[in-house]
Amino acid sequence: MTERANPPIQEITIVGGGTAGWMAAALLSRLFVEGAYRIRLVESDEIGTIGVGEATIPAIRTYCGLAGIDEFEMVRATQATFKLGIEFRNWRAPGSSYIHGFGKIGQDLYWLRCHQFWLKERAAGRAKHFDHYSLNTLAARMNRFCLPDPGNPTSPIADLDYAYHLDATLLARFLRGRAEAAGVERIEGRIVAVNRRPADGHVDHLVLADGRQVGGDLFIDCSGMRSLLIGQAMGVGFEDWSHWLPCDRALAVPCESAGELTPYTRSTAGTAGWQWRIPLQHRTGNGLVYASAHLGDEDAARVLLTGLDGRALADPRPVRFTPGKRHRAWEGNVVALGLAGGFLEPLESTSIHLIQTGILRLLALFPGRGFNPADIAEYNRQFDFEYRDVRDFIIAHYKVTDREDTPFWAYVRNMPVPDSLQERLDLFRASARFFMHGKAELFREESWVQVLIGQGLDPHYDPVVDMVPEAQSTAFLGDVEEVVADVARAMPGHAAFIARHCRAP
Ligand code: FAD
Repeated sequence: MTERANPPIQEITIVGGGTAGWMAAALLSRLFVEGAYRIRLVESDEIGTIGVGEATIPAIRTYCGLAGIDEFEMVRATQATFKLGIEFRNWRAPGSSYIHGFGKIGQDLYWLRCHQFWLKERAAGRAKHFDHYSLNTLAARMNRFCLPDPGNPTSPIADLDYAYHLDATLLARFLRGRAEAAGVERIEGRIVAVNRRPADGHVDHLVLADGRQVGGDLFIDCSGMRSLLIGQAMGVGFEDWSHWLPCDRALAVPCESAGELTPYTRSTAGTAGWQWRIPLQHRTGNGLVYASAHLGDEDAARVLLTGLDGRALADPRPVRFTPGKRHRAWEGNVVALGLAGGFLEPLESTSIHLIQTGILRLLALFPGRGFNPADIAEYNRQFDFEYRDVRDFIIAHYKVTDREDTPFWAYVRNMPVPDSLQERLDLFRASARFFMHGKAELFREESWVQVLIGQGLDPHYDPVVDMVPEAQSTAFLGDVEEVVADVARAMPGHAAFIARHCRAP
């Protein structure tokens, strides 16, 4: 191929056809004026995709809205179910359980948050389990689901928040159909070389195993953990966070559905990691995430298979990973999305979300007139912030625990954590106060409060709560509990909701 200078962007080449690649292709092809850019996607059937990544968080609905996706159509096509939160079993201590629900916790009284009243009432022995004060959480416990009603802002249903559990393979197929219909050209083939221009180091073209060459002006690296472009070709290094997140392997296995269709993901802590359970319409996804320093692969497989609630539908599939991120996600004319850019274990279902924010950030800083170092620096700054923010939230689940029953738990409970997290934990422990550090933070106060209390941080309540007469505090919390219970009881069952609106064929 002939060398080009740094021309305006005309051709976008996406490398990889997993969730990241097809999410990017489906959204870019929808948002760009038809024909403005030639978009191609290269993927290898021989290599395939990672095939996991089936739980999401509510922000995915923003992606669906921008991509023009009808949610019921997607739920049908991907055998999806709805997700109100995540249940964490055995995390604080063996036998414990709490739910991190997506919606609000009760309501505020004056400027004081509901959890402050709960802490005071609990200290006086007058409060139920925290789950009873959040509609998302109680509805999840009761296997209920309905859509929120934003048109009725005074109703507790207005604050319900939800995401999806989706079959990863079907999702990629669904997005591919939309992207191809919008003009994206799919090229099947295995990339064997990535050629860079000597002048500026930008990627010039890819070479496929059969000798074909695929050029482009902007390359989006969605090649998964191989990190073909950003890592291998551009040489951007990796920041390893395994000293804070010692889990480095996973085994995934689907099983037959059994029991009620739960509208939440379950994460059950084990001796050296945790097991996920993701209910879909046609099967249940399961996996064990574990630290290889503390658990052998054979033992891990045995633990996983023993913990299934239906018959296994395949042999467990191994995945190895290093938690962390690339130093930069944008280098030259390469932008990495998905596993090519980094990976944090799926405890809070954040990876698909980080793909989405990566695409939106690329759109916000799109190099339409060529590559501007200031745009690239800003992209990388935001990427770095996001990963550190999510990392701290995930580490908190391990650090804040009463468990010390195995070497794994003893290690994570006693390990030093990043200052950014330690400061948050200290502030919360003193008076259950939490402050966001900026709009870019992914998890809001409600999420941190549920997780920190659920994990057993046991903070003092805000002393300002004592200014509210005790009888008023008690009545307020009682009212919250009653309203949450009444509304949850009136919601349809999760399975019934799906059967009525979006049962897969
Ligand atoms: P992949 O799916 O690996 O796709 C890579 C693509 O690149 C493939 O199409 C492959 O064929 C192609 N490719 C690679 N090399 C070449 C080559 N040489 N030539 C041509 N093509 C090539 N995320 C969540 O949000 N929720 C979850 O619940 C969740 N659970 C997870 C559980 C585990 C155990 C793991 C490891 C991850 C999980 N994730 C989860 C993360 C999620 O799976 C990924 O973010 C998501 O699937 C995106 O993957 P990807 O598209 O980056 O990579």
